[in-house]
Amino acid sequence: MSFRKEIEALHPAAYDLAHRRWIYVPYDRFTDRVGPVSEQPAHETGIVIVESTAKALRRPYHKKKLVVLISNMRHFALEQQARGVSVLYHFSPLSHGQALLELQRELRLPPLTCTTPAERELRLDLGHAQQSGLAIDFVDDPAWASTLADFTDTYGPFHPGKSYVMDRFYRRMRQKTGILMQGTKPVGGQFSFDAENRKAFRNQVPVPPPPAFPPDGITQEVIAFVEETYAHHFGTTRNFDLPCSQQDCDRFWGFFLDRLLPHFGAYEDAMRDDHLQLFHSKTSVLLNLGRLLPLDLIRDVEQRAVDGAASLASCEGFIRQILGWREFMRHLHQQTDGFRLLEHHVRQEEHPRPQPTSPDRTAAAAEAYRPSEPLDPYAGARPSALGASLPLPAVYWGVKSGLHCVDTVVEQVVEEGWTHHIPRLMVLSNLATLCGYSPRELTDWFWFAFVDAYDWVVEPNVLGMATYADGGLTATKPYVSGAAYIHRMSNFCGHCQYDPKQATGPGSCPFTALYWTFLERNQAILKTNPRMGTPYMALSKRPEQDLVQLRVRAAEAVADLASFRRPDYGD
Ligand SMILES: Cc1cc2nc3c(=O)[nH]c(=O)nc-3n(C[C@H](O)[C@H](O)[C@H](O)COP(=O)(O)OP(=O)(O)OC[C@H]3O[C@@H](n4cnc5c(N)ncnc54)[C@H](O)[C@@H]3O)c2cc1C
Repeated sequence: MSFRKEIEALHPAAYDLAHRRWIYVPYDRFTDRVGPVSEQPAHETGIVIVESTAKALRRPYHKKKLVVLISNMRHFALEQQARGVSVLYHFSPLSHGQALLELQRELRLPPLTCTTPAERELRLDLGHAQQSGLAIDFVDDPAWASTLADFTDTYGPFHPGKSYVMDRFYRRMRQKTGILMQGTKPVGGQFSFDAENRKAFRNQVPVPPPPAFPPDGITQEVIAFVEETYAHHFGTTRNFDLPCSQQDCDRFWGFFLDRLLPHFGAYEDAMRDDHLQLFHSKTSVLLNLGRLLPLDLIRDVEQRAVDGAASLASCEGFIRQILGWREFMRHLHQQTDGFRLLEHHVRQEEHPRPQPTSPDRTAAAAEAYRPSEPLDPYAGARPSALGASLPLPAVYWGVKSGLHCVDTVVEQVVEEGWTHHIPRLMVLSNLATLCGYSPRELTDWFWFAFVDAYDWVVEPNVLGMATYADGGLTATKPYVSGAAYIHRMSNFCGHCQYDPKQATGPGSCPFTALYWTFLERNQAILKTNPRMGTPYMALSKRPEQDLVQLRVRAAEAVADLASFRRPDYGD
């Protein structure tokens, strides 16, 4: 039986609609372990889930993202129904807010409860529906590991001109939660063991093969649906292998704990073309859907440190990503209203190009997010502190550039919608920052191309950490490098036509020339940054003749990258 038939047969009875507590479960909160769904017995609980076409058509989202999200949504609905929760599963061409409004009117649903949505875009959509009469109460979301007060107590009231150093927040969270703490002191005598975690990977230890999660009937049906309805979206559904049931999500996490965590820290920054995941957890996709909960993962990892099953450096390194970076980023996004509050403090991109939408927009989808105000509240922020504005070239859509690192990483993104942190930062974003591609376009690309992307996490990572578009609010300096870093931390350069040791000439790796010209171009803004002293000192020692050649090589590389045509995704 198709999922639609199965779920429609379970439509709640009138008695249930009137007598249960009805909770709206957003598309990224599939959990009954915390929050409103867990607060009363199953037989008193009702949940509303909306499968919205308008949302899926909002951007040309990676096909695997749509599959993993919709299949988890459908599995969650059936899991809840199996434990006695009444499930109202609604297919709609409208946005979530508009769909709920219609549903509430039609079925006379009582006021709904919902955790404050993680995504700004959903907060806005539900807020608009509320103004039109949707009865919904928002409650705090315990699926996060921190509260807003944790952030504001650390930094004081938000100010767009400040610099927010993540470490302060992380230390406070360690103190507050007692994670890896002995009284007031950090276990091992220091809060961070990052200095021990920067090794290149040269097959020192075997990389265990990950467990398989072949699509079950429900997932196969979703794959067929995505292929039919979202055929022109980015990426592929080929070899879909992500967990979609709670049981599989837990098994996925268990594999990381047992097999990958022991080596996570040491090789956290390493990149390989033969082991793309290395020892990373790949949990972001499940964490961001609510299938795994941050505090559960943190406690499991802390226990491994206590048991001695993994080194303190590995465990602390992993905990910092979740208790530190992940929480920090979402607060920063919320506090800056998705970086819109920087508008009068940071240079903005002057001639923005339209943001991408799915080519298959139906009338209902287009209507769903039509601005109701003179300024489009859904339009993304466009800070560009370094004045970057060039269009993102075709290589980000999989057209081969000849740069082995870029081509390998982009191919992985097209295939999987995922790559680990360092390729995102030091290959994809590094290239964009060095060349001067529009930070907004890069953000939008990350947003639709990655399975784990949602506004609260992708915008601070790209506009803040990766491109310095926010002028230093998130990162104290731009994360940029020439070929030397990529060569040191990966095996990419060994398989590339370009030589990482040459800076100029046709066979030289363009990253190096792009790096020096980036420094030159942005001297007025970056030279006084205390963390940029060493590179600017090195630049000042380069003879003018070298600089001329570097400029030629860099200009050639930018022109080359711009010359490729990109496949049409309709955006
Ligand atoms: C340009 C750029 C774009 C990014 N876009 C996203 C995104 O859309 N969604 C997303 O979840 N992460 C994003 N990140 C952060 C990070 O790269 C991914 O969370 C991580 O690579 C996911 O793989 P993993 O689960 O194996 O992570 P691991 O290396 O195993 O780390 C464990 C977890 O820590 C969290 N984490 C680590 N770093 C960050 C960070 N900087 N911000 C937020 N959480 C973090 C993630 O939840 C991750 O699952 C981005 C980083 C950069 C530089």
